Amino acid sequence: MIAPSPAYNDAMAASPPFRIVHTVCSHDCPDSCAVLVTVNEEGRAVKVEGDPKQPVTRGFLCGKVAKYLDRVYAPDRVLYPLKRKSKAQKGPRPRGREHEAFERVSWDQALDAIAARLQETSDRYGPESILPYSYAGTIGVLGFGSMDRRFFHRLGGSQLDRTICSEAGGQAWNLVYGKKLGTPTEDFRLAKLILAWGANIHGNNIHLWPFVEEARRNGARLIVIDPYRTRTAAVADRHIAIRPGTDVALALGMMHVILNEGLEDRAYIDEMTHGFDALAERVREYTPERVAAWTGMTAGEIERLAREYATTRPAALRLNYGVQRSENGGAAVRAIAMLPALTGAWKMRGGGGQLSMSGGFAWDKKALERPDLALASPLGRLARVVNMSELGQALTESGTKGLGTEGLKAAADGPAVHALFVYNSNPGAIAPNHNAVRRGLERADLFTVVHEQFFTDTTDYADFVLPATTFLEHTDVQGAYGHYFVQLSQQAIAPRGEARSNVWLFGQLAQRMGFSEPCFRDTPEEMIRQALAIGADGHSANAGMEHITVEELEREGHVPLAIHAAPEAEPFLPYTAGPLATPSGKIEFYSEALAAAGLDGLPGFVPPVESRWGAMAKQYPLELLARKNDNYMNSTFANLPGHRKMEARTNQKLEIHPQDAEARGVGEGDVVRVFNERGTIELTVMLNAHLPAGVVAARLDWAKRHPGGANVNALTSERLTDIGGGATFYSTLVEVERAGNRD
Ligand code: SF4
Repeated sequence: MIAPSPAYNDAMAASPPFRIVHTVCSHDCPDSCAVLVTVNEEGRAVKVEGDPKQPVTRGFLCGKVAKYLDRVYAPDRVLYPLKRKSKAQKGPRPRGREHEAFERVSWDQALDAIAARLQETSDRYGPESILPYSYAGTIGVLGFGSMDRRFFHRLGGSQLDRTICSEAGGQAWNLVYGKKLGTPTEDFRLAKLILAWGANIHGNNIHLWPFVEEARRNGARLIVIDPYRTRTAAVADRHIAIRPGTDVALALGMMHVILNEGLEDRAYIDEMTHGFDALAERVREYTPERVAAWTGMTAGEIERLAREYATTRPAALRLNYGVQRSENGGAAVRAIAMLPALTGAWKMRGGGGQLSMSGGFAWDKKALERPDLALASPLGRLARVVNMSELGQALTESGTKGLGTEGLKAAADGPAVHALFVYNSNPGAIAPNHNAVRRGLERADLFTVVHEQFFTDTTDYADFVLPATTFLEHTDVQGAYGHYFVQLSQQAIAPRGEARSNVWLFGQLAQRMGFSEPCFRDTPEEMIRQALAIGADGHSANAGMEHITVEELEREGHVPLAIHAAPEAEPFLPYTAGPLATPSGKIEFYSEALAAAGLDGLPGFVPPVESRWGAMAKQYPLELLARKNDNYMNSTFANLPGHRKMEARTNQKLEIHPQDAEARGVGEGDVVRVFNERGTIELTVMLNAHLPAGVVAARLDWAKRHPGGANVNALTSERLTDIGGGATFYSTLVEVERAGNRD
């Protein structure tokens, strides 16, 4: 047990039966908060609180997790393995009655039956017909990807390309810088200008906010660039509501002004970058006037923004992943990421920028995931890769309705999918092109296993539902993409009911499948040591973690990476010394690697197919922002009454500009049909004059919570981003009409 913080010692001094356990919030959020859990003598968690000693958590939690015990002890948690009753059809069940489709079975029965079915599927169709589907339901290192990866490699199951959230932006950033690093979060307090680009700091990166506020108290300005007036935009010094998908044009337009007026940092460019001349040539065509026509800004606004950004020192950019969920999202992230390289903003503490800092954490993934086990699979090689952003296609191939087992066409590079194993995710709600996904999940011949904490849109289609632990109920180790601390998450309470962790589940299943490799018996503690590559001297062998020991993590809860070990004496200034991990060893304005792949070596603005400039706009003229909620984590938390209450104002609403509403003869409170060629949903009109005209917004909710059983993803497509094969949730065209007008 770690030593409690002084604050806790004080608070608990009079309550000796209580113990304090250091855990880490494992939800998909940059902040990766250190969470102290108070456990009473019955072993029940009675309080969760942010660790005041952790320099980024600073003693507070967001509204989502401050109420975490509501989730852990929710009366409707799935607590036992469940098997679909033989006569219970797959499909949505009324909320609160989902369990009627299932019968309780023991873990032994469930594991034996699942192992037998996977074996049969593998024998009949080949192991690649088995598809794992997971994402960041937990971002703990073990929970996100360890024993599960070992299992599927050894099985020969298809590999999943986990693209749905951040791959386009991550790859784009790496094309420029080689590695995802950024300005330390704590250093934002030193900035004099903060540019939040597609970043709703107040909504989903709340632990950066106190540093932003401190900077503002010291005279900094906060400018938000976002088509939607987020909580952050509403309290910023300036909100620039550009049109969706035009970020790349704005970034190139800013570069045009910066270079035209000689505001670039020539010395930094000469020393640290590659391809400047090509970039300078490219941005010549991005005049403020042309960019204004695309973005909806005025030329003067573009010039002002560029000057302000280039001449204020230090200037910090907080770029977030919303920008990359567009067809041209990769180019957008590349272009925006280049701005601090052009102005030399990285040179000053408090300047530079952040997309993700996950590149600082060099976990020993080979040891954790064991790709070598694929050689022992029936394939004798690594399996084919299926892109998770195309799940609808993967489950239905051409999307044809009603295909049975034999009617499914084999994918060009492997068999059709006949078994789906879902964990850490809820594709029935979060995957694009919901109707195609649903058609796939409905297939009676598709064997589906779901490891979950609650009945969701996906468990409605499961053959087996297996109970999963929360982060209070298992042990893990975690980095972050919004700070530079390695943290240990210790198990605070016994799992509720028969809930089990991912590590336990896939280890047990491997043994039922007859996989005899000793690694399937590793304990979480052993795997934490493997992730850290702990050597004979007790220290990590991972780059940048050499000073870290498990004992120190147990004692302190959090330990900074080497780059952040002495932030005052030796502040970390990313990308100020080479060589970088790019092909040229420098920051790449021009990418030969992209050019060699037949792509544009420079960022350029290509209007999305699904945008006001595309042919589809004639039929579906409105650009939809399929947004997430501030108080949910994608679909997580949307089942809890307290969290739903916090989102009641915008839940199942269509936010629309008054002009667009008037043109369609609808007004506040009217029920409208929102549709395109992929689907239709009904929402209630909420007028929002802050949206750019021609743009509407709606939020992700569970499909089964909608009266029609389909959520906003019935409208989104499986079209992929230009880089990284990511999902394009923010390149979606729709039309809106009063409900009841259409056949
Ligand atoms: S969701 Fe994010 S802000 Fe909230 S507790 Fe978890 S890590 Fe912290």
